[in-house]
Amino acid sequence: MEEQSLERFPWRDHPDAVELGLDHYLRLIERRLRGENVSLVQALREFYQRELGIALRETQARGLMHRESSVFIDYVQQTTGERLIPNVEYWETLGLEAFLDWRQRFYSTRDVVAVDLDQERLMAIENRSAGREGPVERRTTVTRQIYRDNALSRFLKYLYQSQCQICRFSFPLPKGGVYVECHHIRPLGNPHQGPDIETNMLVLCPNHHAMMDYGTIAIHPEALTVEGIRQMVSEHVGPLSLRKHTLAKEFLEYHYMNLFGR
Ligand SMILES: [Zn+2]
Repeated sequence: MEEQSLERFPWRDHPDAVELGLDHYLRLIERRLRGENVSLVQALREFYQRELGIALRETQARGLMHRESSVFIDYVQQTTGERLIPNVEYWETLGLEAFLDWRQRFYSTRDVVAVDLDQERLMAIENRSAGREGPVERRTTVTRQIYRDNALSRFLKYLYQSQCQICRFSFPLPKGGVYVECHHIRPLGNPHQGPDIETNMLVLCPNHHAMMDYGTIAIHPEALTVEGIRQMVSEHVGPLSLRKHTLAKEFLEYHYMNLFGR
């Protein structure tokens, strides 16, 4: 007999596995509602194996899609307060448009929840840096960035197990989870207009994120090594500790030429 207890489920060690799996599940439901003949169980198991290295048993995948009780439904309820059923039969009765509406609202609510957490932290930074140059502007920039890149940055943080790509530092939060940030190499917004795509992003600790933003350090576009402006940052220079995704040379060049040491 299959073990039903959630404690035994293999994603317990992956803090984002429920969220990422649900995102994929909602994409699969959309494909089904658009008339594609895709097997939800098989496609979800493939996703967990391929993207997260988690081998789900078929019964576990079916359990995730259960219409009355599953970690997906619990997750939706925690996020929105609604006990809505993310289940393909349910949405087939309401239609694609109703599903897309609901999914949009769900993502907006979820992202606002995530932003609130980051804003609290940014307020703390701002208070600590009161009187220094620049904190208000930085807070605005970072907040907008969090709004825009939520799903992608979560994925990258997962990919790097929340470790800084330069120094591997991260720290646990009292209420659970591990803190790390995502940096856009060519910044978003004016005047840089960098794109919100993974080849323009790095997973960094708050120190290295700020050092990149202020142009104290940069990543050499050819050598992919960290360079610093002065002797005092020598402890930060050298090869990247972690590199599990591709960085576009054009964005590294942009940062190196326009922001580094300026
Ligand atoms: Zn770091």
